[in-house]
Amino acid sequence: MGEFELIRNFFAAAPCAQGGEGVALGIGDDCALLAAAPGEQLAISTDTLVAGVHFADPCDPFLLGQRSLAVAVSDLAAMGAAPVAFTLALTLPTVEADWLQAYANGLSAMAQSCGVRLIGGDTTRGPLTLTMTVFGRVPAGQALTRSGARPGDLLCVGGELGNGAGALPLVLGQRSADPEITEPLLAHYWSPQPQLALGQALRGKASAAMDISDGLLADCGHIAAASAVGLLIESEKLPMSRALLSFLGENGARSAALSGGDDYVLVFTLPEAELAPLLAAGWPVHVLGRVVAGQGVVLLDAEGRDITPSTRGYQHFRETP
Ligand code: ADP
Ligand code: MG
Repeated sequence: MGEFELIRNFFAAAPCAQGGEGVALGIGDDCALLAAAPGEQLAISTDTLVAGVHFADPCDPFLLGQRSLAVAVSDLAAMGAAPVAFTLALTLPTVEADWLQAYANGLSAMAQSCGVRLIGGDTTRGPLTLTMTVFGRVPAGQALTRSGARPGDLLCVGGELGNGAGALPLVLGQRSADPEITEPLLAHYWSPQPQLALGQALRGKASAAMDISDGLLADCGHIAAASAVGLLIESEKLPMSRALLSFLGENGARSAALSGGDDYVLVFTLPEAELAPLLAAGWPVHVLGRVVAGQGVVLLDAEGRDITPSTRGYQHFRETP
């Protein structure tokens, strides 16, 4: 099977490549065309997943299809953008029809649940690598950025922390556990649900936002730096799942919630007056702490003592932790 047959069979024919709102021209030409609405901005983000670095190799291609897209779409959620489309640059060592079909099915399943369409890409031979670029729309000037946090704002997250990192020993086959533990953790890892609706609901309300991919402490560090403020996190307020707590114990779960990556829930800062209406409307908002004048991220125990750990999160190319 050649490159063009592969693109036609597995990607151009996939349910997620059948066009939709905002897509004027999809796969097949030199460029795709997106319809641009007046008064809107395009939100664009790229993520690369390398086999053996970002996911175990081999792994289930359907699950990989879901996860690879979800991870990329989560950046649209973080900006408060409405998802429109994505491209896929696929590098494959060999052409295996079953693998490609399952991967495309996983991709289509996640694309449908997120409301994005596949509009193009590139297909090359080499070590298995997936690069997704996602496109979303946002009313001009209303995207949620990392730079608007102000002293006095609340620091909040949109869901449980640590499940992605907690799942890792299961994904890698290093540990096993009962299904009531493994199922929710593995579901979170393989099929994270980008918080798209929450991101859009936070437009005009949150002062800063991002999605947690490298761990709460590390990612809060980005908000603190971009906003030139300090962030205080109260360690007993971390929302954690029962599955994570029973799997890793209190201390292990806390360290997964603080420093593990792969959560893909939103972390955001909120002027205090915005909290009650969001909670009343049923949005998942967990207050973890506060924005203060200063710099950096400080973790506090129940007595208000500084218990900030030295390990923060994963960084490529970093020599020492
Ligand atoms: P070009 O050589 O002009 O860059 P290609 O031959 O690489 O175009 O691709 C042909 C068409 O197929 C283009 O519309 C491209 O966007 C699309 N395409 C290529 N690879 C993929 C893929 N993995 N998934 C979806 N669309 C793809
Ligand atoms: Mg090409």
